[in-house]
Amino acid sequence: MNRLTRRLAAAALALAFVFAAAALTGHETQAQARITSPEQFFGFQMGADRKLVRWDKAVEYYRLLEKESGGKLKVVEMGPTEMGNPFLLVIITSPANQARLEELRQMNLKLSDPRGVPEAEIRRIVAEGKVVICQTMSMHASEVGGINMAPELTYDLVSRTDEEARRILDNVVYLEIPSFNPDGAIMIHDYYVKYLGTEFEGGPLPWLYNKYIGHDNNRDALTMNMKDSQYVGKLMFVDWKPQAYVDHHHMGSYGARIFVPPYAEPIRPLADPQVWREMQWYGGHIAYKEEEAGLSGVANTSQYSGWGHFGFHWITPFHNIAGMLTESASARIATPLYIDPSQLAGGARGLETYKEQMNFPNPWPGGWWTLRGVVERQKVSAWATLDLAARNRETVLWNAYLKASRQTERGAKGKPAAYAMSAKQHDPLTLNKLVNALLAQGIEVMQSPKGFAAPDGMTYPAGSFYVPLAQPKMGLVRYLLGETHYMDNEHTRRQDGTPIRPYDMGQDVLAEFMGIRADPLDEAVQGDFAKVVAPIVPAGKVAAKAPFGYVLDGRLNDSFRAVNLLWDKGVAVRRVNAASDGLRPGDWLVPAGPDAAVADVARLTGVDFNPLKAAVAKGAHDARRLRIGIYRRYRGGNMDEGWTRWLFEQWGFPFSEVYDAEILKGNLNARYDVFIFADDSTGAITGEPGGGRGEGRGGMAFASVPNSTPPEYRSGIGSDGVNAIRDFVQKGGTLVALGGATDFAITRLGLPVRNVVAGLDSKEFFCPGSTLRVRIDNTHPLAYGMPAEGLVLFHYSPAFDVVATDFNDRNEIVVRYADRDVERSGWLNGEKYIAGKTAMASLGLGQGRVVLIGFRTQNRAQTHGTYKFLFNALVSR
Ligand SMILES: [Zn+2]
Repeated sequence: MNRLTRRLAAAALALAFVFAAAALTGHETQAQARITSPEQFFGFQMGADRKLVRWDKAVEYYRLLEKESGGKLKVVEMGPTEMGNPFLLVIITSPANQARLEELRQMNLKLSDPRGVPEAEIRRIVAEGKVVICQTMSMHASEVGGINMAPELTYDLVSRTDEEARRILDNVVYLEIPSFNPDGAIMIHDYYVKYLGTEFEGGPLPWLYNKYIGHDNNRDALTMNMKDSQYVGKLMFVDWKPQAYVDHHHMGSYGARIFVPPYAEPIRPLADPQVWREMQWYGGHIAYKEEEAGLSGVANTSQYSGWGHFGFHWITPFHNIAGMLTESASARIATPLYIDPSQLAGGARGLETYKEQMNFPNPWPGGWWTLRGVVERQKVSAWATLDLAARNRETVLWNAYLKASRQTERGAKGKPAAYAMSAKQHDPLTLNKLVNALLAQGIEVMQSPKGFAAPDGMTYPAGSFYVPLAQPKMGLVRYLLGETHYMDNEHTRRQDGTPIRPYDMGQDVLAEFMGIRADPLDEAVQGDFAKVVAPIVPAGKVAAKAPFGYVLDGRLNDSFRAVNLLWDKGVAVRRVNAASDGLRPGDWLVPAGPDAAVADVARLTGVDFNPLKAAVAKGAHDARRLRIGIYRRYRGGNMDEGWTRWLFEQWGFPFSEVYDAEILKGNLNARYDVFIFADDSTGAITGEPGGGRGEGRGGMAFASVPNSTPPEYRSGIGSDGVNAIRDFVQKGGTLVALGGATDFAITRLGLPVRNVVAGLDSKEFFCPGSTLRVRIDNTHPLAYGMPAEGLVLFHYSPAFDVVATDFNDRNEIVVRYADRDVERSGWLNGEKYIAGKTAMASLGLGQGRVVLIGFRTQNRAQTHGTYKFLFNALVSR
């Protein structure tokens, strides 16, 4: 053939293909022609260099696809985020499935809790049901792969008409969260665009990438304080209970290109074993598909341990969901990063060296790393998950039934058989909050209207709660309510005995965090129980006759909220500081009279307004709201500070955010009575070199480059700031230093205190996220309302010795660690170093004082049991 005939033949062949395709797919080809591609819509290919999708445009795009998809895609606006942006769920499945979505959901719920469902019905559902898969994108907003990948994945799902795509739509209901953090997505986009083309291009966001909590948004799965978490938690734990979940993240830049399931050692026991096998199965298929697509650098069984925090992808296995994550190597947001081959390194758990190995057979060779490289790998992983489920629909559904029924059986046979939570607790209103947190996890909780007796003879009064282990989420019940000890074995120590840092904490016993007693019962109780079907929102009672005024129980956290609301309404409140006639130190006294205000506050807070028997003349003082300042810095922001802000808002404490400039102006006493430094490193506060714990605690989201932050966002109070803070205390102010910030207070203000665990080798002392027993001086105003013994959360925290000086009378020890058996839950190595040592102290300095709280008193707004230590510092003594 000459060149012309070759060309004509080729053209004819191409034409023939076009006709064949048109004949085969008929009207779909026309429909396809109407579906707008991401490239057409956004004007660039997803993941193109220096291009990011902005969330508002993404929302528009999903709404457009909803119109164009021919019934394959439904957009659900779940509600506003903390900053008022729309939070979307995109449901993708065949039009036939979309038409019976509610029926499919109900069927799925029977598989995930098959108690009382006849086996014939289970078999029918397995035959006719659909696999439910959930995937979430860019929860950590700086990890931009997911939000930029999702439009392309979504477009492929609704526009592709090949067999693989059809099989997915026919067999899978795919729940996509195209951004798990819309607020952060917008911040990251705008910051990135602002500094494009400058020397700061691609640098880290100087503040937290959402309103309050930054990187901790994953850890929020435990209690779901944030709206975003609530939407996804309700979707996964209550409404849909998918069979598998993949959360798409980023990691550091210099190892594997993408981590895919399964996790590495150590495992966290008590899930159904099949759930871990499923992760191997999905992970195997994902890795296979990556290789098939010619994508290198895929690692599994490494870096991310099976025992992590109870973030979304790590808590889901205990919901019988194959909870997985992908972690892609980070470029510099959308700016390519050149990586010399010599810079590639292993060093991660299960990936010690950067060379071919069973879980990493095809190392990426180095060169330019781009966001497109991330998008491609993530998209393959997301598609492969759907593909595997679609090809194995019945197996996956049958497994869902098996996991749920076997876990229920295990719970029925095991010990403990149940947990009982007495209505009689130190702070009963906090018990309701714990129950509500369990309900939000989709855990079954029963309540006894008349009370019950346990086989061991313990009795529980009316209103007490009973949580049976004979339920599908038994593993989760066990971890949230029962004493937990982190594994101590060859997977958690190096050969020389050095403990390997757990991914997060050593346990997640929410009951212990909240100061609630949950008793394990060896045998089930056949009582007259009623299932708790809705969150408990108690209304407080107001005594009808209270000529001497009311008393609010100082043991209730909610009394602080009530008092704050009363102060908002201009009601004067007194506080008891000496026990007398049924009154305890810390109780609040409210005058008779403002009936409407009182009724309102009782209803909102659940706090009872009980009548005083007589006028209280002695042993009480006028309580006054203090002016609160909280230190806020850049350097990626401080999550603990963000949590503290959120907590104060929830509990009604007004406060100001104070940046460096205001501190440097000095004369802080004119504006503040109390000044708070949340958990932080000294260097991050002062701005000295070497300081700067970033937002990526526990993660590896950023390869941070020195000076990658514009000058206007470099922070640190410097020595002038230290002087201003010292001046503030000496003139009568109260400085509250939390966690690591106690080091700042001790070293910079020269306090006579020594951190007794500083500098100890981890072989001698090691204590990640553990609840430890303490003795509390609850006659001290900072511990009013607390029990005499309790639990605090210790997370690589300091512990103190107050050193003898000529002025010992200025120093007060409020909380000490127990003398023995210090660990309640977690992992404490080297008890002798902290037994009997000081956990919290108040130290006089000039006219003022410094309150050191070494433990995590308000950690992630989960440790309700120790909030009062902080709250007490915010009101006048
Ligand atoms: Zn992440």
